[in-house]
Amino acid sequence: MPRAVLKYVPHTIRHAPDLESTRQAHCTTAGCGESSTPSDEDTVQLWCLGHTGRHPEHTVFRRVFTDHARVIREE
Ligand SMILES: [Zn+2]
Repeated sequence: MPRAVLKYVPHTIRHAPDLESTRQAHCTTAGCGESSTPSDEDTVQLWCLGHTGRHPEHTVFRRVFTDHARVIREE
């Protein structure tokens, strides 16, 4: 009868600094709906400042951060 032999192999997951990280901001003012294009942190912050400059009552943004993570098998 076949038997399965299961072995516990530890893994870790870490941010992969060699791969792209992206930021994006979405204006939360009701009825606006504008968003920055996905970009680096400085570009997105400048977009937020410019958006509030054009629309002084639009002062809150939902920010989204994405990155890549890599799972590494430990042996
Ligand atoms: Zn807005």
